[in-house]
Amino acid sequence: MNVVEMTGEFVSYNSASQFTNVPVSKAIAKRMREAGLKVETLSYNDANGVPKMSVVGKKGKGTGGIALMGHSDVVPAEGWAWDPFKLTRKNGRLYGRGSADMKGSVACMIDAASRLSARDLKQPIYVVATSDEEINCGGADYVHRHSRTLKEGKVRFGIIGEPTLLNVVVAHKGSYKVSVTARGKATHSSTGRGMNANHKMVPFLNEIIDIGKKLDKDPKFLDKRFTPPNCTMNIVMGDGNTAANITAPLSSATINCRAMPGQNWSSITKRIRALAKRHDVSVKIWDGLRPLDTPVDSRVVQEALSVTGKRTTKTVSYGTDGMVFGKTMECVVLGPGDIKQAHTIDEWILPEQLKKGVDVFGQMIARFCIEDPA
Ligand SMILES: [Zn+2]
Repeated sequence: MNVVEMTGEFVSYNSASQFTNVPVSKAIAKRMREAGLKVETLSYNDANGVPKMSVVGKKGKGTGGIALMGHSDVVPAEGWAWDPFKLTRKNGRLYGRGSADMKGSVACMIDAASRLSARDLKQPIYVVATSDEEINCGGADYVHRHSRTLKEGKVRFGIIGEPTLLNVVVAHKGSYKVSVTARGKATHSSTGRGMNANHKMVPFLNEIIDIGKKLDKDPKFLDKRFTPPNCTMNIVMGDGNTAANITAPLSSATINCRAMPGQNWSSITKRIRALAKRHDVSVKIWDGLRPLDTPVDSRVVQEALSVTGKRTTKTVSYGTDGMVFGKTMECVVLGPGDIKQAHTIDEWILPEQLKKGVDVFGQMIARFCIEDPA
């Protein structure tokens, strides 16, 4: 099976993050085994009880080597003019949900790993396909905490194969996220006896919006390496569409800031906790998704520049599983296809990008696992 056919097979499963990704993970595991990898599967139920599976494959013995990492979930595909789950060749492009982000890249990783014989490997190759990257990196977090294969392998270097047109990305933003809950009491609004949870939430969020505006001007929270250079606070909220004649019993909101390397959020956390107390709302602060910031002199960066022939590294503003895997590995984001295609209607990738992806991943494996083991 060539890399285009394998991409087509993975695209054929609708693994939008709200659905299960178990069927596509099983297909990935099967292709990994055919490529000579030993496979560990890691399963859990997500917050909505939907079964999710991540896959970790290993080829070769011992520890060290390099990990090639991707995800098998995709964003939903609505509004397409044709079937988004059937890889379709048109005008030299391959259209399909996940073709660029990033089932094509996962196929490249497996194809590249299949070309090297386990006997020639002085250190192992790992290929990882996670769940829930598009939501909260839940699969990466689960793999990070539970994968015996990765833990025993003590792998130091990784490639996150998100679409970068095979540019070498060394840093990206992370996520500073706060879940907010306000509780009230439901009654018919005409009685005047209820308590509206939104009436606690709204003034709290007004103060949060002010904090966001200040962050946009605070040099400590600006980083010119990124576009935009600020952490772009975003708030989403809901009260379950309470009818206008009922006092809302529950109001929830999520605040998301794109935190950047080296920023210290503890003072913000302190202020948010104090405001929450004053407005009688409860907050849960998530700090598990760190920015990626791999030093340019890291071996994985230097080898990636040499293999791709690029002169300089790049930074991006979107997050990846590197927010999790970067905790233990020195990672670059490097993969075929263009991020501009990700999440769009009529997402596509060029077949030449897939071929180049196989080539670049193959050369990286050769450098780390055969020529000069890490
Ligand atoms: Zn992606």
